[in-house]
Amino acid sequence: DHFGNANLHPVMKENIQLARYQVPTPVQRHSISIVTAGRDLMACAQTGSGKTAAFLVPTCSALFDKAPQLAARPESRLNVRSFRAKPLVLIIAPTRELCTQIFDESRRFCYRSMLRPCAVYGGAGYRGQEVELEKGCDILVAVPGRLMDFVEKGRIDLSNVKYLVLDEADRMLDMGFEPIIRELVERRGLSRDRQTLMYSATFPKDIRMLAKDFLRPDYLFLQ
Ligand code: AMP
Repeated sequence: DHFGNANLHPVMKENIQLARYQVPTPVQRHSISIVTAGRDLMACAQTGSGKTAAFLVPTCSALFDKAPQLAARPESRLNVRSFRAKPLVLIIAPTRELCTQIFDESRRFCYRSMLRPCAVYGGAGYRGQEVELEKGCDILVAVPGRLMDFVEKGRIDLSNVKYLVLDEADRMLDMGFEPIIRELVERRGLSRDRQTLMYSATFPKDIRMLAKDFLRPDYLFLQ
C-alpha cells in the first residue's frame, strides 16, 4: 500500500512525497477512503498514529479536486480592507501546542497551492493572528477560546466550512471546552452541509453524545 495508489490530487501527491511519507498509516488509509466517500467519521487515534495527516491530506486534496483554482492560483489576496475570513476547513484542537503542530503540518500539504492555512490560539497576540487572517484563510486551525473571540468580532465567518475536524476531542472535553465547542458548531452559522471528522483516544459517554449531535447518523466508527 502506497500513497501513490490513493485517489488523491496530483498536487497533494507531490506534497506527500516532499514530506517523505511513503506508506499511509491505518488511520490515514481509512480517513482517506471515508472522506473520499463523503461520510462522517469518529476515529480512535492516539498521538503518533499519523492522525494529523489523516485529516489534512484527504480534505485538502478534495478541495483541490473541487476547486482546481485552489491547486494553483496566482493572484494575491492582500489589501482587503473590510474582511471576514471564510475558512473551508476548520480544525479545532485543545491546546496551542497541538494547534501549532497541526498548522506546521498543514503548511506542508498546502505547499505550492493557493490553499492558505492560518492558526488562532490564546497566549499570543491577537493582532498578529488577525493580520494573517486578513491575508486569506482556507484552512483554519484553532483553539476554541480564541476562535470564539474572532467569530464574535465578526473576523471569522464559519458559513463556508466544508470540513469540520475535532482533534483530541476527549481532551477538549476534559479541559471544559464542551459548551464553547457546542456554541461554535451549533449556533455560529456552521453549515449542516459539511463533513465532520472526530478524532479521540477514548470514548466516554460525553464523546459519544457529541458524535451523535455533530455527525450524520450514518457516520463511520473506526476503532
Ligand atoms: P501525528 O500522529 O499526526 O502526530 O504524527 C506523528 C508523526 O508521524 C509526525 O511526525 C508525522 O510527521 C509522522 N507521519 C505521519 N504520517 C506518516 C507517514 N505516512 N509516513 C511517515 N511519517 C508519518
